[in-house]
Amino acid sequence: MKKVAVVTGGSKGLGLAIVKELAGVCDLVIATYSNTQPSFTHSNVIYKKLDITSSSECLDLISELAASSIHPNILINNAGITADSMFHRMSFDKWLDVINVNLVSMYNLTHPLFTSMREMGFGRIINISSVNAGKGQLGQANYCASKAGIQGFTKVLALEGAAKGITANTVSPGYCETDMISSISPDILETIRKTIPQKRFGEPQEIGSLVKFLVSDEAAYINGANLDINGGLYCS
Ligand code: NAD
Repeated sequence: MKKVAVVTGGSKGLGLAIVKELAGVCDLVIATYSNTQPSFTHSNVIYKKLDITSSSECLDLISELAASSIHPNILINNAGITADSMFHRMSFDKWLDVINVNLVSMYNLTHPLFTSMREMGFGRIINISSVNAGKGQLGQANYCASKAGIQGFTKVLALEGAAKGITANTVSPGYCETDMISSISPDILETIRKTIPQKRFGEPQEIGSLVKFLVSDEAAYINGANLDINGGLYCS
């Protein structure tokens, strides 16, 4: 069976690294992007502009692909945001925005694609969570709630999809070298780096490689798992 992957937020950061890795092992990768114009080109990669919070845009994308006989059987829900603030100062809008983009929007592509994967009898779903889902982090009540929610959601997909050849797993990165951490002040970032047992941040390509393994045939028995990849931060 052909491997056709959708990667959300695929034009930069971890999403781009995932796209680069999957381009070599999938027949086709549909990388979605919102604000950052794609720069990476590959014969197996096509880009589609998409706001993952829009249910209609997500459904339109799937219809457009189906009209070209493109039926994704791999979904990497990678797009995400932060909007940090100590909880006593966190506005309801900030709370809602982060949970909406990171968790609520996961319904929009996952629901139709999970349904078609059931019909195909094969599927791989990888949802990008975070080390902070399990650890907690000052100023990230909204983000940690959304990323912990993703882990629960994924376990149910694993249970419900197993009999239909679908696996669902989360990958929970620690701090990685992307724009997401560049919004953290340098002194706080340095404090964080010192708490990481390996004393460095993750490289996006390291996350891409793990995702590539999870979509491989060798990973067929990994289901409902949370794969931590954080240089030992979760032990510290
Ligand atoms: P990034 O800011 O570089 O990229 C985030 C991506 O999400 C971008 O491509 C952006 O366009 C996309 N996005 C945001 N809102 C969107 C929307 N409404 N519609 C469509 N796309 C949207 O950050 P990143 O580090 O590459 O983060 C990727 C994922 O990894 C996120 O889910 C993030 O929470 C997670 N993560 C990152 C780190 C880290 O240290 N970088 C650590 C743990 C988890």
